[in-house]
Amino acid sequence: MKDCIFCRIVAGEIPCTKVYETSNVLAFLDINPVIKGHTLVIPKEHVVNIMDIPDDLASELQQALRRIGNGLLQGLDADGFNLGMNNFESAGQLVMHAHYHLIPRYKGDGLKLWAQGSYESNEQMQDIAGKIKSAV
Ligand code: 5GP
Ligand code: ZN
Repeated sequence: MKDCIFCRIVAGEIPCTKVYETSNVLAFLDINPVIKGHTLVIPKEHVVNIMDIPDDLASELQQALRRIGNGLLQGLDADGFNLGMNNFESAGQLVMHAHYHLIPRYKGDGLKLWAQGSYESNEQMQDIAGKIKSAV
């Protein structure tokens, strides 16, 4: 897609720092890392978010995520890694070409990714779960 920054990276029109590539998947360092080594894993095909990724491609992406996760553990001596994906603008998706974030983590690095809250009551919790269940 012409105006998509990640399609332009795939096409080689914009440089990236590549860490892994197959015929359908590309992984490169995020230009603004949460922690150094923060890697973006994308399908080469332009799809907007997780809702559009065909199952066979999702499976290839999953394999790539595990390989790169291992790369962070072995290559950067990370103790763990976060896997994240922003889907839709309201969830913080800025680039509308599906991508997974892989962020290396170290014991005591202090990074807190999720601010957590609580339910007002058990009824509220059950009500919300019911709405999700009925739409799944
Ligand atoms: P989103 O908020 O859409 O999940 O994340 C988009 C990510 O892409 C951000 O973390 C941002 O730093 C990264 N990014 C945006 N433009 C570029 C670019 O041109 N090159 C690279 N390597 N990363 C980019
Ligand atoms: Zn694209």
